[in-house]
Amino acid sequence: MRKPIIAGNWKMHKTVNEAVDFARSIENKLPDPERIETVICAPFVDLPALVEWAKDKQVGIGAQNMHFEEQGAFTGEISPVMLKELGVQYVILGHSERRQYFNETCESVNLKAHAAHKHGLIPIICVGETFEEREEGQTKEVVRSQVIKALTNLTGEQVKQSVIAYEPVWAIGTGQTPTAEEANDVIAYIRQVVAEQFSPDVAEAIRIQYGGSVKPDNIAQFMQQTDIDGALVGGASLKPDAFIGLLEG
Ligand code: PEP
Repeated sequence: MRKPIIAGNWKMHKTVNEAVDFARSIENKLPDPERIETVICAPFVDLPALVEWAKDKQVGIGAQNMHFEEQGAFTGEISPVMLKELGVQYVILGHSERRQYFNETCESVNLKAHAAHKHGLIPIICVGETFEEREEGQTKEVVRSQVIKALTNLTGEQVKQSVIAYEPVWAIGTGQTPTAEEANDVIAYIRQVVAEQFSPDVAEAIRIQYGGSVKPDNIAQFMQQTDIDGALVGGASLKPDAFIGLLEG
């Protein structure tokens, strides 16, 4: 069956020294890797030190974005080849903050998803509705469109190895969440969309996380849901004790 995946998204937090201190303080408390996949998605500059630390541990290290080209005149960007060479295994794509502040589009997320798979990186593809879209009853329509566009022309095998994070924009960093049942309902719908676009087999295999104000004291209710395969967590992943609390869920 699908193994749950808990991924911390540190956003623009932690210098290299802070990242290493964090890593050392959790290393003896990591969960059984047979039960939970643990991932830390850190700022680019932290990645070499974290990859080195994680070498003899069952923790995946991820980036929070990348360009879709392998190299070129794209000042300030990082390519999938660079991440792969470092030993990074995951990359968050289409986070709502990238969509909102950095002109990320469904089309660029799709290009990046192809690039990730080409270079053996696992994309964690973020989708989710805004507060206004939710109020207007458009949640499923919005996530349907984002999922279809993000996965366009990927193979079934590539989709099986991808991760989707359902992150309602209004729940990110706000302390507000949908109920676990509401999140599960949207995630089950995403699985249905994947089944239609690819196959039931692919839909059964892909892992779909919930993200948005997940904390140690509310994670269990999300994890108990049938279709929720873990969480993508921002704020609560920044403190070692809270991160361990999430993993103990
Ligand atoms: C996120 O950054 O993906 C996120 C879900 O943030 P938070 O947990 O702080 O809401």
